[in-house]
Amino acid sequence: MLKGVGVSSGIGIGKAVKYITRTVAYADTAITDTGTEKNRFRKAVCQFVQRNEEWASRVDASGADGEILRSHIAILNDPWVLSHINMEIDAGKRAERAVEKVCDKLFAMLSSVEDRYMRQRTEDIADIKRQLIENFLGMEDFDLKELPPDTVLITEVLTPAMMAEIDVRNIAAIVVEKGGVTSHSAIISRALKIPAVLNVNNALREIVAGTTLLVDGGSGDIYTNFDNNLKCNFLKARESCVKKEAIAEMFREKKTVTADGIRKELLANIGSPRELAAAIAEDAEGIGLFRTEFLFITKAVLPSEEEQFKAYKAVAVGMKGRKVRIRTLDVGGDKDIPCLKLKKEENPLLGFRAIRYCLENRELYRTQLRAILRASAYGNVAILIPMITRVDEILKVRAIIQEIKKELDNAQIPYKKDIEVGIMIETPAACLTADLLAEYVDFFSIGTNDLTGYILAADRGNADVSSLYSVFDPAVIRGIKYIIACAKKRGIPCGMCGEAAADIRLLPLLVAFGLDALSVDPSNIFFMRAGLSKLNQSECNAIAKAVFEKKTEQDILRCLTSKAKRIFKFDYTET
Ligand code: PEP
Ligand code: MG
Repeated sequence: MLKGVGVSSGIGIGKAVKYITRTVAYADTAITDTGTEKNRFRKAVCQFVQRNEEWASRVDASGADGEILRSHIAILNDPWVLSHINMEIDAGKRAERAVEKVCDKLFAMLSSVEDRYMRQRTEDIADIKRQLIENFLGMEDFDLKELPPDTVLITEVLTPAMMAEIDVRNIAAIVVEKGGVTSHSAIISRALKIPAVLNVNNALREIVAGTTLLVDGGSGDIYTNFDNNLKCNFLKARESCVKKEAIAEMFREKKTVTADGIRKELLANIGSPRELAAAIAEDAEGIGLFRTEFLFITKAVLPSEEEQFKAYKAVAVGMKGRKVRIRTLDVGGDKDIPCLKLKKEENPLLGFRAIRYCLENRELYRTQLRAILRASAYGNVAILIPMITRVDEILKVRAIIQEIKKELDNAQIPYKKDIEVGIMIETPAACLTADLLAEYVDFFSIGTNDLTGYILAADRGNADVSSLYSVFDPAVIRGIKYIIACAKKRGIPCGMCGEAAADIRLLPLLVAFGLDALSVDPSNIFFMRAGLSKLNQSECNAIAKAVFEKKTEQDILRCLTSKAKRIFKFDYTET
């Protein structure tokens, strides 16, 4: 068995087809004149833009989001990139060499970032570089159009351009040697609903072309040798995945309400304006978490107020009056931002991060808050503050917001006067003092990704302690219950925006505790809506009672899994 990172759940059964990426070597000879090289570069860029626009429309047409390909065009058209490539040509380099040098520089900048999502943007840079050099060399498109039905595609990398070439109807699964959960290939395979496993070491070497493979896009397991029993399990699991899709589909355009009529909210998590389309397509009732780090992470200099304003406004306008909770910069910890040149810390997860950093870097923070406040004139925008540990942090943020409001009033710039200010509850301090914090904010959003790690003292990114990192641990469950109870006592809404909000096994507990809103990846909205429709308060209360009698994470998980199987008629132990 081979193992990788399951990034797009689903079961694929099919025959291995290996795609070997071509090498794109070019002769690095001396140039005749810079004008000719600049013309070659311009031509290659035009070709690149034309082709990526065409691919993007094709991806849009297949039901996924072609924005990723359009973002490649934006990266290439970035003034910094264009001017640096032209500068390299002026310095006497061939167009190929100039492109390679600047792309490699960008690649190195992104590779050093700690944030996984940004590190995986290096794939985009490598793809842009390869496509441009292929254009210089006049190489033809990929040959991925004619794959046979039930193909399990094995490749070293999977670029959005390759995805645009593939006829998805013929793909049973995708196995890739590189990439991770937040890479673009992962995002697109999820959108196209193709089971995919990334980060599979030596997949091309280990897998023989033509072998039948069993691929679990959830667990990341790939079986090359198997008995009939295992194959039967995979066939059953595949059926169960199809069932999940079918269940979810029935809840398109339905209300989010429990079986006994309690209204809940289903919001979407997005990490940039280009994910807005998915949130709208999947019927999100609002944006519960708009992560803003994307604006800062690829930049050599900080984004201006105007640039931020445009991004925030685009989402506010796009959501047409539905709520948009914009989270202020969550820098540090697992999210490095190169242009901020943060100093290395012994223990970054307990260090100078998020709100702590922002309050000490007032200009940066004021700029962001001003941009958010200005964007609030265009929709139902709220401010969400990450990593709060104490009341005075909220008071300081509120004071800055007040100052900015005055400035905007003086300059007659519109903004939402009653803009809501809420906080992420993701530290044990915030959890334990949720009763105190609730007095100063308009809403809570429970960030279970961090909260789980901090409560259990288990780093969410460290595989060695991953067995401890579980939202089903009695400590975390008790924490969640207390947070929701404090919000309810104070009369403010409480949502959840960590990954656990999309875990249907936890749902009965969240209903029992009285959680108001779930904010999940857009692809999970319908399924969670379907889940809520099966639950009623008294049954959930009974489940919560049973869970509080259990003493271990394993017992709680077992109990909730069996309840979920019964209520949702959905089997989780898929393979
Ligand atoms: C969380 O911690 O649960 C959360 C949603 O924030 P992030 O994953 O961005 O740290
Ligand atoms: Mg967090």
